[in-house]
Amino acid sequence: MQTKGKVILRRLAPGGDLLEEISALARREEIKCGTVTAIGAVRRARIGYYDQKSRVYRERELEDPREICSCLGNISLREGEIFVHAHVVLADREGKTLGGHLCPGTEIFAAECRLDELLLRPPERVYDEETGLSLWPLPEDDGTEN
Ligand code: ZN
Repeated sequence: MQTKGKVILRRLAPGGDLLEEISALARREEIKCGTVTAIGAVRRARIGYYDQKSRVYRERELEDPREICSCLGNISLREGEIFVHAHVVLADREGKTLGGHLCPGTEIFAAECRLDELLLRPPERVYDEETGLSLWPLPEDDGTEN
């Protein structure tokens, strides 16, 4: 089975929000299932760490410019809508890195993004009691063996 769909390479607008720009690109290209990568730099960032005990995201503001050493994510569906989940590793001027869940509030300085569409049935996020997160179903829950 052919599972590889289109590949999009796009520079994202400076000053835009990194997560929102990636999400808008996926929606514009109607990619419901796929992967995301991006590199570049941000003017400021907001990254999250999920506190597994209290089940809330602890968000951290990074006010200084940083390199996007890695931005990896996936595209699937949440409540029927195209949804991007991404994580970043960001380096400061010394090369020291911090990473986490990419939150809204990360401002693009320069970003080159790649979306890879997968021609599979898109996973639908569902609320997961065990973690408190909106996650893909486990294989035994949805009957698929992707
Ligand atoms: Zn995450």
